[in-house]
Amino acid sequence: MKTSDPHPIDPQRRIVTVAVALPVRETFSYSVPVHLADQIGVGKRVLVPFGRRRITGYLIGDGSSDRQMDVKHVLDILDDRPLFPAGMIPFFEWIATYYMHPLGQVIATALPAGLNLADVAILSITPSGQKAIGAAQLTPLEERVLPALDKRPTDLRQLQQAVGQPIARALIHQMQRRGWVQVERRIRARPVRPKTVRWVTLSGAGPLTTPLSKPRRVIRQILETEGDLSLANLQARRPGAPALVRAMERDGQVGIFEKAVYRDPFGDPIEPDAPPALTVEQTAAMQTLAPMLGQGFQSVLLAGVTGSGKTEIYLRLTQAALEKGIQVVVLVPEIALISQTERRFRARFGQTVAVLHSGLSPGQRYDQWCRITDGQAPIAIGARSCIFAPFENVGLIIVDEEHDTAYKQEGGLSYNARDLAVVRARHHDALVVLGSATPSVQSWHNTTTGKYATVALTRRINRRPLPAIRTVDLALCRDERGIHRYITPQLRQQIRQTLDDGNQVLIFLNRRGFSAFTICADCRQPIRCKNCDITLTLHQRANALRCHYCGFSRAAVGSCPACGSDNLRLMGVGTEKIEAAMAELFPDARVARMDRDTMTRKGATVKLLKDLKHRRIDILVGTQMVAKGHDFPGITLVGVICADLTLNFPDFRAGERTFQLLAQVAGRAGRGAQPGQVILQTFNPAHFSILAAKHQDFLAFYNQEIGFRKALGYPPFTR
Ligand code: ADP
Ligand code: ZN
Ligand code: ZN
Repeated sequence: MKTSDPHPIDPQRRIVTVAVALPVRETFSYSVPVHLADQIGVGKRVLVPFGRRRITGYLIGDGSSDRQMDVKHVLDILDDRPLFPAGMIPFFEWIATYYMHPLGQVIATALPAGLNLADVAILSITPSGQKAIGAAQLTPLEERVLPALDKRPTDLRQLQQAVGQPIARALIHQMQRRGWVQVERRIRARPVRPKTVRWVTLSGAGPLTTPLSKPRRVIRQILETEGDLSLANLQARRPGAPALVRAMERDGQVGIFEKAVYRDPFGDPIEPDAPPALTVEQTAAMQTLAPMLGQGFQSVLLAGVTGSGKTEIYLRLTQAALEKGIQVVVLVPEIALISQTERRFRARFGQTVAVLHSGLSPGQRYDQWCRITDGQAPIAIGARSCIFAPFENVGLIIVDEEHDTAYKQEGGLSYNARDLAVVRARHHDALVVLGSATPSVQSWHNTTTGKYATVALTRRINRRPLPAIRTVDLALCRDERGIHRYITPQLRQQIRQTLDDGNQVLIFLNRRGFSAFTICADCRQPIRCKNCDITLTLHQRANALRCHYCGFSRAAVGSCPACGSDNLRLMGVGTEKIEAAMAELFPDARVARMDRDTMTRKGATVKLLKDLKHRRIDILVGTQMVAKGHDFPGITLVGVICADLTLNFPDFRAGERTFQLLAQVAGRAGRGAQPGQVILQTFNPAHFSILAAKHQDFLAFYNQEIGFRKALGYPPFTR
């Protein structure tokens, strides 16, 4: 963004509109005192009085002058430069209206965390309060409050902790009236500021008046040949440099200055890559897409089977955008995936990429944010919140894996980043490309109504075949007990073969709702709902089996509705147990697990993916985290432990989720030179979602699903 911001605020009038980060519908007008007038700018935060508090607000434009008489003053302007460009305000306003969320809170959600200030009341004792200590007329509570305040000023919460009981505000007011305590409102800031490091520069390039000592000559020489250096760098070359440099600064031989640095969230150096020659299909896709850049609003669904080279299209399109001076936002589902796509963008575009996702520290996020507002990074890539990347005028928005539910933000401002991508594109007259191998029913529906254009990639790169998918009926697998019955002979044999061939195996188990259910030991059927034919889930506390779909409930003990046997057995299976079973069955294999439990530590995901890539893992067991967009050529076998799990979800999208998850996880197989195999174990081999996944046939799935949706009045036929 340019520093000469085109904000519409008239400094003569000095009335501004402020959106406060509070649950209020309106925006407010404030006047700007003369001493702050030259700092006004849309997109900056301001400190304003609001009732009895002082709060943060966002400057969003001109104020109305008719109320000029009674408006309050802006107390402070908190930013030297705007945090977001004026061009984003219509987008924020649209969100506020559509999601019925206060504008100031929309903006607060959009900004990187850690920027908001809180206002607290600080209580302190007065001299007459000090005198009152020990006086007879004090209540017991006052007798404890005053000495506590005498020790040090504090806020109400700390005071309550100090005296060990709640304190009514009325008591504080009373003590205030008596002149014993003072209340002062202070701002508690947890500000995130640009990180700076100290740099050293030579000053006085002319001839030296006094000869330098040898150590100083060394420093001078380094700076002469290398130019300005950070103090840390200098210290590395010449231990003891900081003390020397300080002395040299005093003598006017060098200058020390602060230089802003960006905290680099990327651990690894990334090798630059060269773009491959496009395939025929990719070329055709680019011929459709590239001319759309800069030609106004357009939504395109890029439907391409897994491994068909969609990411390469994103990269090429981004390249074409940059050549036209167009700014680009790339959304990817979540952190486990971002390392991959981010890496490919970084390999292609280097430092011009800013990364915004929740894996960054607040400081890192703020830095990345500033690289965008400073105009250093014309590309922003990140998880859902990256839709708020502060570009004045984004011209291309790419949503990778547009079907992914991780784009939904729940709680606070609830939004779907994929939908916002289309909205923002409309506001900026931009091109939005939604890519997926398994498009959402909603998006495909939009192509049938003409709302979205489509571009298809139907073949894998290098004509690699799609993996061969075999279903194995879990109900027919009778001879194994416990966990091992979930590793059918077919799967076991195929794992053995794959390991012997020196390839890698991915085992997928969506543990949710699967950790406990009951199965009949005689007929081997899981206990199903009598209404919905869905496997019942054990609710331990109630000791009941419950249908997550219709709410039907029955006792956990009893007899099998299918065969009458009362030999019911609790099946508890999760990634952890499968991992242990794998290690036991294949002692020669290196087994690892990827799920929310193992991936809590920062960097753990990246490390695991790296191990997988470098073939330090033979079998990876994981939840849906492993299903997403990874590209590991060594994986030739994907085993799905139980394909039915998501079918049990009490959601009209259960069928869609199942199809997507299975098609995606199957798509992880055979991305390298060797063809892939998928074994899909299921209790419902004839279910249309599972059949469609087996044939990787999105349209077959869609045509059946859309019929249901229409008949039952679900989205996309209702909102
Ligand atoms: P998708 O995003 O559709 O799953 P990718 O873009 O990850 O597919 O491509 C799959 C693999 O093919 C990647 O390893 C990628 O580097 C490679 N690839 C993509 N396009 C080409 C191309 N034109 N020539 C050679 N390899 C390609
Ligand atoms: Zn039975
Ligand atoms: Zn039911």
